[in-house]
Amino acid sequence: MRSGIDLTIDEWRSYLKESQEKPYLAVPLFRWIHHHHVLSFDEMSDIPLRLREKLKEEFRIDLPKVLDVQRAEDETAKYLMQFQDTDTTVECVLMKYRFGYSLCISSQAGCRMGCRFCASTLRGLDRNLTGGEMAGQIYAVEKDAKVSISHVVVMGCGEPFDNLQELFRFLTLIHEEEGKNLSLRNITVSTCGLPDQIRIFTDRDLPVTLAVSLHAPNDTVRKKIMRIAQAVPMEKLMDACRYYTDRTNRRITFEYLLIDHLNDSVQLAEELSFLLSGLLCHVNVIPVNPVKECGFERPKEERIRQFIEVLERHHIPVTRRREMGKSIDAACGQLRHKRASGALREERHA
Ligand code: SAH
Repeated sequence: MRSGIDLTIDEWRSYLKESQEKPYLAVPLFRWIHHHHVLSFDEMSDIPLRLREKLKEEFRIDLPKVLDVQRAEDETAKYLMQFQDTDTTVECVLMKYRFGYSLCISSQAGCRMGCRFCASTLRGLDRNLTGGEMAGQIYAVEKDAKVSISHVVVMGCGEPFDNLQELFRFLTLIHEEEGKNLSLRNITVSTCGLPDQIRIFTDRDLPVTLAVSLHAPNDTVRKKIMRIAQAVPMEKLMDACRYYTDRTNRRITFEYLLIDHLNDSVQLAEELSFLLSGLLCHVNVIPVNPVKECGFERPKEERIRQFIEVLERHHIPVTRRREMGKSIDAACGQLRHKRASGALREERHA
């Protein structure tokens, strides 16, 4: 059975046309699901009863179920969400900023990219999430926390560019003015750097912020920590990044994880400055968060400061990521998906 939350207004329209129904009902249908968040066709009072019965036979409407919420002292909350195939769960993180609420959502259950510092990839990829399931994380958290989310980062579990069509579907659903009507400018998508997909994304010309997880200024260092670097040489990645900035005239955020004595030397900071000089970008430095299976350490404050100073000296815009939710393992790279509820219980009690 198809999930009604995945259909865009255009798709509802085509469906209704093909079913010899009134195409203009696409808008109210979409509104019921994406604005009023009803979970049953029975509640759609302005949809003819006969059509509701038919829709019930073909579609389900469901939001991900909130299995668990952990709250940190800084008001960050980590949600464990379960999808309709009960084996699939992901985590997402609600953060409170001065400007409002931001949600970090997952794009896949698990991840097949294999970055050595990241908890999301430890068990590999379970499955892609649909666009509706990405949007559903936002609706479910808004319902649970009784807040309105104004910013979204696609930086939870998964590689969004490894699930590009569903990412596009998500962006259409969430931006639709009959639904959540979220501004695309308030959305950031982070990729480990898949060049072909960066180009496809560029050609869509969406005002979404692009973040690229760089973590090293050269192939030798990058290969030590990111499996994708075996397949994608730095040169190819930087070409795609330049394609993006040239075409869109928008700044790329480069994420740079600092790992003690691995990619955090002054010399590598110099190399990074050289690599990025003249490129429309911004560097976000993130001291690595501990993941017990990975065993990487964050550098001492002094080294972090020195690294940032080199970039500043070269006039590369740089910020240090504000760290939230560490006490509940909700920080970057610490999100996991859990395959079966049995495994989940085991881990909790371990
Ligand atoms: N697959 C995408 C999005 C998910 S990761 C990507 O790679 O960008 C989101 C960000 O968290 C990335 O920049 C990632 O490199 C970073 N990250 C992963 N593990 C981390 C860790 N242990 N500490 C700090 N940041 C981490």
